[in-house]
Amino acid sequence: MKTVHAILAASALLAVAPFASAASNCTIRLQGNDAMQFDQKAASVSASCPKITIELTHAGKMPVAAMGHNVVISQTADMAAITSAGMKAGAAGNYLPKGDPKVIAATALIGGGGHTSASFPGNKLKAGGDYSFFCSFPGHSALMKGKLTVTK
Ligand code: ZN
Repeated sequence: MKTVHAILAASALLAVAPFASAASNCTIRLQGNDAMQFDQKAASVSASCPKITIELTHAGKMPVAAMGHNVVISQTADMAAITSAGMKAGAAGNYLPKGDPKVIAATALIGGGGHTSASFPGNKLKAGGDYSFFCSFPGHSALMKGKLTVTK
């Protein structure tokens, strides 16, 4: 632990740009709203991140039952299967198929004013793969989706 602290302290002291951008590549920050939209259509992360964190904020006011948002990450080709299985899972299952290996990562479903986060290891993604992020609430992924670019 002492070594880790020393490295962290050293990076903080150096405070050079490469460190900052490397760190931001390990976080996906998205905001959803009552108009069924994310604030971004694309995000980028690095597969070399020990831990990738998804931060979701719901800037709207509507309750989770009417305008719930989550962030699901999967291969783009799996999106349709996940959203239809999510619809079958229903509100009780947070509109997400339980234990589905196609779901690489997912946050909780939140309503207006909420905030949630989820983490997963970067090695669950492959650099250059075709990934997407989306909301699995019924109907939302038509608008609430974006491309997740994965770098090395
Ligand atoms: Zn949504």
